[in-house]
Amino acid sequence: MPRGPSAHVKKIFCKSCELMYASTAGAMEKHAQVHRQNGYVRIGRKKDAQGRATGDYRPEQHLWNHWTGRYYYGSDAKGWRNVLPRDALFTNRAGCEFLRCRKCKTYKILFNHNNRMDRPHDHSESLRISKMVAHESACKPKEKKENQHPKPKRAMKKQVVKS
Ligand SMILES: [Zn+2]
Ligand SMILES: [Zn+2]
Repeated sequence: MPRGPSAHVKKIFCKSCELMYASTAGAMEKHAQVHRQNGYVRIGRKKDAQGRATGDYRPEQHLWNHWTGRYYYGSDAKGWRNVLPRDALFTNRAGCEFLRCRKCKTYKILFNHNNRMDRPHDHSESLRISKMVAHESACKPKEKKENQHPKPKRAMKKQVVKS
């Protein structure tokens, strides 16, 4: 019996993407979780003989790369589309578009964009998206005063009166 992820690849339909993926159930579950969490969805496709992304659809979470410590499409596939969350884009008064952190709302990455959420794969865009995904997962905005000024610890012990 063959071992490894290729042994478990199935055709799985994603309703959100409206695409039939060829990947593992585990990878597709992680892909579905990104949809549920309104994350950045990156879609790959298997490469043809000319190296173009024309074949089976692959989720970003298809395989784990031990070298980079990240999921990827697999070495026989490459990026095809990046789908941005609707609340990820911020346009300033000058009309420049940015990816904006949805947690702190202050961290921004310049991102020229044509108002389409469904983006053909572009290497420099993918790098910017990766940067924002990394920032958002680590971002802990300061909001609550309680967290900034923790209450002094008080001895709350009640005296036990023995009768
Ligand atoms: Zn999907
Ligand atoms: Zn942030």
